[in-house]
Amino acid sequence: MADVRLRFAPSPTGPLHIGGIRTALYNYLYAKQKGGKFILRLEDTDQKRYVEGAPQYIKDALEWSGIHFDEGPGIGGDYGPYIQSERSDLYKKYTQELLDRGHAYYAFDTGAELDQMRKNEEATGNQGAKYNYLTRSKMKNSLSLSTEETQAYLDKGESVTVRLLIPRDENILIEDGVRGQVTFHSDQLDDKVIMKADGLPTYHLANIVDDHHMKISHVIRGEEWLSSTAHHLLMYRFLEWEAPNYAHLPLILKPTGKGKLSKRDGAKFGFPVFPLSWIGDSEEESFIGFKEAGFLPEALVNFMALLGWSPGNDEEVFSMEALQSLFSIKKIVKSGARFDFDKLKWFNQQYIIKMNNDKLADLIKPSLGEVGLTADDGFLSAFAGLMKERVEKVGDFIPEGRFFFTRPDSYDSKMVKKKYREENNLAFQSIISIIRSKPADLQTDVKSFITDNEYKFGQILPILRISITGSMKGPDLFETIALIGHDECAERIELFLEAAPEILVEN
Ligand code: GLU
Repeated sequence: MADVRLRFAPSPTGPLHIGGIRTALYNYLYAKQKGGKFILRLEDTDQKRYVEGAPQYIKDALEWSGIHFDEGPGIGGDYGPYIQSERSDLYKKYTQELLDRGHAYYAFDTGAELDQMRKNEEATGNQGAKYNYLTRSKMKNSLSLSTEETQAYLDKGESVTVRLLIPRDENILIEDGVRGQVTFHSDQLDDKVIMKADGLPTYHLANIVDDHHMKISHVIRGEEWLSSTAHHLLMYRFLEWEAPNYAHLPLILKPTGKGKLSKRDGAKFGFPVFPLSWIGDSEEESFIGFKEAGFLPEALVNFMALLGWSPGNDEEVFSMEALQSLFSIKKIVKSGARFDFDKLKWFNQQYIIKMNNDKLADLIKPSLGEVGLTADDGFLSAFAGLMKERVEKVGDFIPEGRFFFTRPDSYDSKMVKKKYREENNLAFQSIISIIRSKPADLQTDVKSFITDNEYKFGQILPILRISITGSMKGPDLFETIALIGHDECAERIELFLEAAPEILVEN
C-alpha cells in the first residue's frame, strides 16, 4: 500500500472554527493510526479573503489541541512549500497542460457580463443559469471566439480567466468513505474557473495539484466540498493522475439540531465556537476561545472526536492515543452531529478530575493573578485537588473557591437567618477553641463536641461553613479548614459571630 499521507488544508480567512479542528483531528487520527504523515497546507490563493494573523492562529490552535503536523509551514518537509501562494508556478504549469489537452479554455467575461448572462437566461426559463454547455457558446471565450479574437483578448490581458471544460452527459462516480457511492451528472456541473484574472488559481485547481504533488492518499473534509469533488475527479482524469480516497464529514449542527453551527452561534447560545480567542477588527468579529473559557484541549478533542464518529459502543472517554487506535472512517456517521455544549462541559469535568493537581494549579494560577490574589504552588495544588470535583471549567476554580484565598465579604443571609441562633454562641466559642488547638482529627473532635453537648449537627455545621466560606457551597468543611489554616478559620468564625446580629435584621 502506498504511504498514508493526509492533510489539513484550511484557508487563512479568519480564526479556525471548531469544525476545522474536527476535520484536522480526523485526518490526524487516521494518519497516525496508519503510521502515516499529517500535513498542514495553507490554501491562501483567494487573496481578497486573506486575514492577517490567521496562519499563526491556525498553527497555535492545532498545537493547543495536540494535533501536531509532520510537514507544513514553518517546519517544512519534502513536498513544500506548504503555502499555496508560494506555489504559483506549479498551478500555471498545470493550467497550461489542461489548456493544451483541450480540457480547459480561456474566458474573458467581466463580472457585469456574467450577471447579464444570468439575467438573460432566467428570462428564457433557465433558472440559476451556470457557465456550462448551455451558455458557454454565448459568452466571450476561446471556444466561441476565433483564434485571432482570442489572441487579441489575451494580448489585452484584461479579465483573462481559464475555465474547466466539463464533458457532456457523463456520470461521475465518487466512492466516498462516508457516503458510499455518490454520483453527479456532468451536465449539472459548471465550467469552473480554475485560474483567475489575478494569475492565481482557484481553490479547485490548487487543491488537486497540491494533493497530487504532496502525495496525499486520503482526503477527509467537510461535506460542503462533496459537490466540488466531481470537478476534482475530472481534473485528476484529465491530468492522468490517481485521485486520493475521499471521505466527507457530516455537518456540525446547532444545539437545537436545526441548521449548521455558525460562528455567530457562539454569542447566541453562550459558548465558544473557536479553539482560541481571536481579536478581530470589531467586537462582532472578536471571539472567546475554548482555551480562554477554561476548557482543556484533551476534553475538547475527545468531545469533537465523537461529534460525527462513534466507536460503536457506549464508551466515551478516550485519550488521543486511544482515539488513534480506534478511529475508523467507516464509523463516521452520515447525518449531522448536534453540538451539545452540556456534553462538552461534562467531558471537561472528567478531564479536570483526572488531571494531576500540580498541572491544574499551573492552569489556575493566571486567573488568580487576574483578581489580585496570590498563593504558593503547594497551596494552589492542594486547592485544585479539593475543588476539582466541583467545577466544570478551569475558570470556575477561583470564583467558586475564592474563600480559600481571602475572607468572605458577605454571607448567605437566607441560610444564616434559617440556621443561626444566638443561643448557640457558646457552642461556637468552644469550637473556636477546639480549632485553635489544632487537633489531629478536627472532624471527630468537633462532631463529638456537638453530640456530647446535645446540639444537632444542623444547628452548628452549616453556620461553621458559612462563617468560613460565606455560603453553603464548597468541598468538605474539615479539609477546607485544614487547607485555609486553623487560626485563620477560628478568626473567621469570630468575625462572623460579630457580624451575625446585623445579618439577622437585614431584609
Ligand atoms: N481550503 C479548503 C477549506 O478551507 C480545503 C478543503 C479541502 O480540504 O479540500 O476548507
